Amino acid sequence: MDHCEILIAGYGVSGKAAVRLAAFLKKSYRVLDEKEQPELPDALAPWNAADPLPCRFQTAVLSPGIRAGNPLLKQIEAASDRIIGELEFAAENTDCPLIGITGTNGKTTTTELTTVLFQAAGEAAESAGNIGAGLSDGVIAHKNGSVDRLIVEISSFQLERAESFPVEVAAVLNLASDHVDRHGSMEEYARVKFVLANSARKAVVLNINLIREREMFLKTDVPVITFSAYDESADLTLKNGWICWHGKPFFDFHSAALKGRHNAENMMAALALLVAEKGEQMFGNIAVLDALKNFAPDHHRAECFLEKNGIRYVDDSKATNPHAVNAALEMFRSADGRKNILLLLGGLDKDMNFKELIPYLGSVKKIFLAGECRQKVASALAGYCEMEDCGDFRSAARRMCVEATPGDVVLLSPATASMDEFKNYKERGNCFKEIVREVAGA
Ligand code: ADP
Repeated sequence: MDHCEILIAGYGVSGKAAVRLAAFLKKSYRVLDEKEQPELPDALAPWNAADPLPCRFQTAVLSPGIRAGNPLLKQIEAASDRIIGELEFAAENTDCPLIGITGTNGKTTTTELTTVLFQAAGEAAESAGNIGAGLSDGVIAHKNGSVDRLIVEISSFQLERAESFPVEVAAVLNLASDHVDRHGSMEEYARVKFVLANSARKAVVLNINLIREREMFLKTDVPVITFSAYDESADLTLKNGWICWHGKPFFDFHSAALKGRHNAENMMAALALLVAEKGEQMFGNIAVLDALKNFAPDHHRAECFLEKNGIRYVDDSKATNPHAVNAALEMFRSADGRKNILLLLGGLDKDMNFKELIPYLGSVKKIFLAGECRQKVASALAGYCEMEDCGDFRSAARRMCVEATPGDVVLLSPATASMDEFKNYKERGNCFKEIVREVAGA
């Protein structure tokens, strides 16, 4: 039987990145994919799951798209000495200092902000991991000398099989129900996220509300830096609108482009990661404070894209679980306690607990239900809010625009994945914007 160093199983975004790194490192590798037949000289022929692989591999780099229970996995296991993910493959082939960020929500925002802060502090930092093509490209950039630190966004899927992931500092931003369909239970989901925390060499950054998870899963002696926009006993807190370190205010959160308590927490986590590496003098660094002020999140994240006739229109299509929706409801609720939010909910379910929304529905005037799981949402929230079953997404978006009156917020924050009607959350958000502009006449 032939021998080969690496099998790259799954030729998606991360698989392609792994191929680039394997080629860069001049390793022998073969690629295979169940659907797409890669146009590569090293591709294996179309693969029949019943047949053993024709080669023996030292390492298989498995795409998160090939899930447990997939019959192909058996053949990969039989042919490989070990199986790892793209992140681990990239990490074990670099000495670039890594910062790891995980959590249910806020990963992309915090990863981008942390990168900007390290850059402001004078480093050639780049974001990598889940946020872009994969960590492999960042590793190649480091080997080429254009990057000296990688800030890695890490999803639970990428940690699923890992026993550790070597970073200098790690942050777990928050934990709420999401992807339970894949992980089987909330506990398993939490355990997987703490694999990252347990791998940190210098410090761990944690939301102070993760007390239970910390007791159950944190097994490391490195210092822990806590943050919270709600609990003043954390190391970093939000007090009278100021971000404070051990009670001392150093940044006026109102002056920042980032809005909402959830974003104050993302900011604190990013700062904690920076300070863990570069020291407390960072709290007084002018370039860092300027970067904090000017950083704005990406599109489709609680993005207020239009204000017309006293009505605000918000695209929060990236809110694919109830926890993210609650952050938007908290952010846009009226100061006078009036019910001012028209909310579009529904799409593709991930076995989520929509009852988590109930405590935050006080400001919601009406819910417009759309998509595959709208019945499930309706029964979870029955009796707590007025609801209208609109059938599909486009009808729901139109209906809410027609019903809005001055002072209202028209909020797309669906608590679900988008793939029942759209390719991804971006397409869903752009569709919402188009409909709003058409109906609101903007
Ligand atoms: P992720 O990469 O984890 O999906 P994003 O930064 O892309 O995170 O934000 C996804 C969604 O979560 C958006 O709706 C955003 O408004 C919301 N969000 C961002 N940060 C937080 C947070 N710390 N807590 C709750 N929701 C958040």
